[in-house]
Amino acid sequence: MRIGAHVDPAAPLEEATARGAEAVQFFLTDPQGYKSPKPREDAEALRASEVDVYIHAPYIVNVASPNNRIRIPSRKLLVAHAKAAAELGAKGLIVHGGHVGKGEDLAAGFENWRKAFEYAENDGGLPLPILIENTAGGDNACARRFDDLARLWEAVGSFGAGFCLDTCHAYAGGEDLVGIVDRVKAITGRIDLIHANDSKGGFDSGQDRHDNLGNGKIDPDLIVAAIRAADAPAVVETPGGSEGQTADIALLRERTGR
Ligand SMILES: [Zn+2]
Repeated sequence: MRIGAHVDPAAPLEEATARGAEAVQFFLTDPQGYKSPKPREDAEALRASEVDVYIHAPYIVNVASPNNRIRIPSRKLLVAHAKAAAELGAKGLIVHGGHVGKGEDLAAGFENWRKAFEYAENDGGLPLPILIENTAGGDNACARRFDDLARLWEAVGSFGAGFCLDTCHAYAGGEDLVGIVDRVKAITGRIDLIHANDSKGGFDSGQDRHDNLGNGKIDPDLIVAAIRAADAPAVVETPGGSEGQTADIALLRERTGR
């Protein structure tokens, strides 16, 4: 299984080489904006590369939102990103689980997730797996606490949704990392990708603050154990640029024996 990093989108293959990464993840657009992705000049090179490519959808995508002005553009953006990611030969499109507003019913969020997949199917289908990622914060999140994740999966599991487990988000979100892979798989049946991140925030703090492995609050061996148990590729989304991420990848390689 492959180990890689979230990198700057300007030259992802060069960033992979600099880190000795076998996989790269990047954004196709400003993660805080609603812009649709444009064709990339390096599409052919990315498709042909030995390096596995993952695309992260913008953070503002929230298909769970009961607010039309957020949900509708989010849906469209998700499908646009899926098509653009498939053009690059990507293995998956990662999207956060999303949330409903304060005081709103989470049931509406799960139903909106189901509708998002239905919308995509009616729009020609999704050309690559959508990997829904667990998130760290908020009381109205669809994929922070795993009892909510189970309800989300009742809504989207039949559409072939995939799952991306972020270790920082799980820990900061209040889910114990011991035995976490079995608990996730009992719900989703699959883990397609691990985001291998340490956490600056404490357990159940709700803080989404990534740290380099061994630098934060998580025992790195728990992250290694999760990767081994999931038998899934791992991507670090850690600070420190090439230097910091190269060290994180090296630690994971050494301890997982990959
Ligand atoms: Zn992540």
